[in-house]
Amino acid sequence: MSQKTDLEKIASKVASCKDCPLYKEAQNPVAGQGDPEAKVVFIGEGPGANEDKLGIPFCGRSGNLLDKLLAQIYLKRETVFITNIVKHRPPKNRDPTPQEIVTCTPYLRQQLLTIKPKVIVTLGRFALNYFIPDVFISKSHGQLVEIKWEGLDLNLMPLYHPAAGLRNGNVLKDIQADFIKLGFFLGTIKKKKPSTLENKELEKEPAQTDLFSKN
Ligand code: SF4
Repeated sequence: MSQKTDLEKIASKVASCKDCPLYKEAQNPVAGQGDPEAKVVFIGEGPGANEDKLGIPFCGRSGNLLDKLLAQIYLKRETVFITNIVKHRPPKNRDPTPQEIVTCTPYLRQQLLTIKPKVIVTLGRFALNYFIPDVFISKSHGQLVEIKWEGLDLNLMPLYHPAAGLRNGNVLKDIQADFIKLGFFLGTIKKKKPSTLENKELEKEPAQTDLFSKN
């Protein structure tokens, strides 16, 4: 069975899931989107208002920023996989509760074990703490770590959530700088491990231009 089919099955389970209260006020499930064989997976916190309306992850203002950051390092949205810790929108964008995270993350686990990525980029503290509990995003953002997770060897890059960058200019600068680091890292492992990281989008070096100069 293909990875695409397996991901569609997981999305179907998410669509009918009532395992925690979040489905009650959500308009749509947001399972995830992207390449089923992606080498890089981005994981946010949970769907926001636009994501809830359309059923697509990172499609509002945060998504626009993420697209620009991806473009800066020559990655296209369709060549990576983008998902969240919880798959239904927490009401009024509140934080997901620990119980909601525990209940929902088996779906994320299934997605990652299907995709088998090489690189995980966590966006915000909830995604970071799913892999590495008790670590502060303020101290660890932009620092690449190698972890063993569920039998997979993963390179994990913690980043601030784009929404935090939209609220705070200093955080936005950190995100932009961290993306440059991510781009260089992806270029480096492409050169070191050509047989294990074959995404052609990763062959180019990241741009050094100011991402935000045009807007
Ligand atoms: S948030 Fe996750 S656990 Fe809760 S209802 Fe949606 S899919 Fe199920």
